[in-house]
Amino acid sequence: MTKMQNIRDLSLAEIEAVIAGLGKEKYRARQIMKWLYQTGATSFAQMSTLARELCARLEELFIIAEPALDRIQTSADGTRKILFRLGDGLAVESVLIPGRNHWTACLSTQAGCAMGCRFCLTGQNGLKRNLLPSEITGQMTMLRRHTPEGPQIRNIVLMGMGEPLANYDHTVKAIRILTSDYGLGFSSRKITVSTCGLAPQIVRLGEDICVNLAISLNAPDDERRSNLMPVNRKYPLATLLQACRDYPMPGRRMLTFEYILMAGVNDSPEDAERVSRLLKGLHCKLNLIAFNEFPGAPFKPPSPEAVSAFQQVLLDHHYTAILRASHGRDILAACGQLSGEAVGKDTPAPT
Ligand code: SF4
Repeated sequence: MTKMQNIRDLSLAEIEAVIAGLGKEKYRARQIMKWLYQTGATSFAQMSTLARELCARLEELFIIAEPALDRIQTSADGTRKILFRLGDGLAVESVLIPGRNHWTACLSTQAGCAMGCRFCLTGQNGLKRNLLPSEITGQMTMLRRHTPEGPQIRNIVLMGMGEPLANYDHTVKAIRILTSDYGLGFSSRKITVSTCGLAPQIVRLGEDICVNLAISLNAPDDERRSNLMPVNRKYPLATLLQACRDYPMPGRRMLTFEYILMAGVNDSPEDAERVSRLLKGLHCKLNLIAFNEFPGAPFKPPSPEAVSAFQQVLLDHHYTAILRASHGRDILAACGQLSGEAVGKDTPAPT
């Protein structure tokens, strides 16, 4: 017996094709999308605007499934890490990051990651598999419906476990659903894709869809970047930065470069000078992040003085350089610390 497909893995256009194949009106597809993503229907029987006969037919063809919310951990700073269990038992994590009047949801796009960045715990355990579109959007719909913060989520960053552009098709389909008026209705300006630097996919993303882009930079030269991030051997800085220059950011917004500062590795004022030369002419800002330690990590966090000195050089060169507070360090929810394993105190998952 073949496993039935999850209708939440289909785009609006694909649902329209199914509906046309069943001889029904095209607008029924939009109704189904609204039931799935706006009402939160978990069965076709709940879709009361559809004829019973159509519901029954859809039930024969599809299932409706979302990842299961397994456990929630809350950091001393309010950050929440949510462990989701997928249909095959694998675990992925999302993080809810508090802002002044809103929350940002950091979603995963892969179970594990194949990119092997040396400063990242996710990368140490390798790739288990790509997430399906339903597993990416499902993190968001579950957070929205089952956490108190859900209705206040204003921003989405695809910065959790995995490299979004290595799971290109599913990530783009998920973004289309997240931004559809019939899906979750997010503005593309509120969605950020973070990449370690897959240059060809950056170009493709710019052609396919218009969202914010963040690039994990972390070193001012190819030698050090290749040592920290194996992807740089394939797409060195010149190739990566050309792809960034060509990327059409929504509304002429700035590109973001993330720079994780590691003591004695990439955190000297001279390194900051090199970064400022490297990014010259790019419409961009920098997010500086002090390295977050994890068990067995080969690097140490920089001193506060080194961080300030690094930031000052960039400010002197008229860059917007923001020192990003690391959220959720105590529960391993900060950048590069997600592993799909719970640590610390749990809050039972809401039912
Ligand atoms: Fe993968 Fe991102 Fe970690 Fe690199 S930093 S190993 S791309 S999850």
